[in-house]
Amino acid sequence: MSAAPAMAMVLPSSPGQSPGDPLISRLPPVRGRLSVDAPLAGMTWFRVGGPAEVLFRPADREDLAGFLSACPADVPVTVIGVGSNLLVRDGGVPGVVVRLGGPFAGVTVAGTEVAAGAGALDLTVAMVAGQAGISGLEFLSGIPGTIGGALRMNAGAFGRELADVLVSAEAVDRAGVLHRVAAAQLGLGYRHCGAPADWLFLGAVVSGQPGTPAEIGARIDEIARQRAGSQPVRARTGGSTFANPPGHRAWELIDRAGCRGLVLGGAQVSEKHCNFLLNLGTATAADLERLGEEVRRRVYETSGVRLEWEIRRIGVGPGIGPGIGPGIGPGVGLCLSEGETP
Ligand SMILES: Cc1cc2nc3c(=O)[nH]c(=O)nc-3n(C[C@H](O)[C@H](O)[C@H](O)COP(=O)(O)OP(=O)(O)OC[C@H]3O[C@@H](n4cnc5c(N)ncnc54)[C@H](O)[C@@H]3O)c2cc1C
Repeated sequence: MSAAPAMAMVLPSSPGQSPGDPLISRLPPVRGRLSVDAPLAGMTWFRVGGPAEVLFRPADREDLAGFLSACPADVPVTVIGVGSNLLVRDGGVPGVVVRLGGPFAGVTVAGTEVAAGAGALDLTVAMVAGQAGISGLEFLSGIPGTIGGALRMNAGAFGRELADVLVSAEAVDRAGVLHRVAAAQLGLGYRHCGAPADWLFLGAVVSGQPGTPAEIGARIDEIARQRAGSQPVRARTGGSTFANPPGHRAWELIDRAGCRGLVLGGAQVSEKHCNFLLNLGTATAADLERLGEEVRRRVYETSGVRLEWEIRRIGVGPGIGPGIGPGIGPGVGLCLSEGETP
């Protein structure tokens, strides 16, 4: 999904200001782009949500590290990939949002290893590997995110996850310090990465086995066919909304709770895959988040299982704010309606 062009004011920045000043004036100078009040909705699959207070597109990793080391410590920094697992709340994201673009998207091959920048699409990594005769990475073609997002989520599909193929990763922390770590040091688990929350991944090395490009290409085609048959892949969605609880499949619990097709405002629980939420075209982030919380409430009522969000929610309300606890959210008003069930 291509991102809509951002309409934002681009301003020069100057260091040495105080916390009361506009954020942009407190940020260090960069070689990349700093944009004020930059729309983020077009950078996410859901296509909802408010702007970044400041959006930073670094020119390269030195630019990023230099910025982080000089950025005042009280300024929140959030990194995003291509927003395929992201719900940006309607009030936008305070602080600096970092988006890693082309300079971070390189992919190179050495033997049966592939080194990819954090901004590279998983699909690109699978394709480059396939063309080089490296098999075992085909599953990445079914995940519509970047390598940075795959590292943070330990993304997986078709029985494999990033942890199975990861050799090492590079990251920069909030102070601008570079870290190079072996895969085992990342504490990867099911949709979980144990790396410090302030790490911005810069890239990864993944490895496969020798294979035949034609056979790898056929497997990638098969994965695309299977996904198109089971997931709303062309919709405004965020992929699986909730992680599978131990011993359960989230979609089965959601189905049993009668939530398939449920509608709230412009948001709907997908008929095709009921662990996916959809923006039908007019949804706000609050519609989507409230619908998700209603699904959690109904699943808890029917099965006693508390679903946990897999989709990352960032930014501030209106709607359900960041302060919501681990339990069931507030009531969602009277606008719920059941959609058609198959
Ligand atoms: C149709 C559809 C199908 C999907 N199918 C699957 C699937 O089969 N398997 C699966 O695992 N996921 C799936 N997803 C979810 C999503 O594609 C993955 O979670 C993906 O890894 C997210 O990558 P992203 O670049 O879009 O990250 P974003 O959505 O932009 O961000 C997700 C999280 O990663 C963090 N992040 C992003 N980049 C970096 C970085 N450089 N450094 C540190 N943190 C970073 C963000 O801060 C955020 O917390 C699907 C999504 C959609 C829309």
